[in-house]
Amino acid sequence: MTTRLLIVGPQGSGKGTQGVRIAEAFGVPVVSTGDIFRANIKNNTPLGQKVKAITDAGDLVPDEVTSEIVRDRLAEDDAREGFLLDGYPRNTAQVGHLDEFLSGRGEALDAVIVLDVPREESLKRLTLRAEQEGRSDDTTDVIARRLDIYESETAPIIDVYAPRGIVDRIDGVGSLDEITERIFAALEARGLARAAA
Ligand code: AMP
Repeated sequence: MTTRLLIVGPQGSGKGTQGVRIAEAFGVPVVSTGDIFRANIKNNTPLGQKVKAITDAGDLVPDEVTSEIVRDRLAEDDAREGFLLDGYPRNTAQVGHLDEFLSGRGEALDAVIVLDVPREESLKRLTLRAEQEGRSDDTTDVIARRLDIYESETAPIIDVYAPRGIVDRIDGVGSLDEITERIFAALEARGLARAAA
């Protein structure tokens, strides 16, 4: 059985943390474009040099660059039976790229988990995290810019997936464990099975 998942939510929605928990429970790798970019920036690779200024500003890396990275990653062996995408696709053009890639392999997403968190709550969490972790990419302006881009570019992808009947909207306000349980319940209601412990 395959498990191909996407988690969508604004920055500060907790999607990174929940994504790791879901991936672990369902026995699939997390494919996070943000993590891939951060690792490349840290290691000062040619890709890292190319995307540093863009990610620092909170803007989106060009679709072609991002989609190629994801295609390469999804072609690896550990993603054969499933994966959890975090942070990609982030606009409708990327949805098209992913559809093309997956349909070329006779595959499709099984579920799109949308973590609903009000903007005010995201802002509060991100500002706190920036203070605690001293994240250089999380200044107030950049945080606001990321949330604006989420609302204008990323939220519309939910309307593309909804008619396919694969979207699960999850209330993202609550304790981490409560939210994880909500997500598990939604995925299990779709007949997706957690991996044996
Ligand atoms: P994230 O950790 O998902 O918030 O990603 C951090 C940054 O990486 C974003 O603000 C973007 O600059 C870039 N990024 C991550 N995923 C994508 C994507 N799918 N398309 C374009 N840029 C992305």
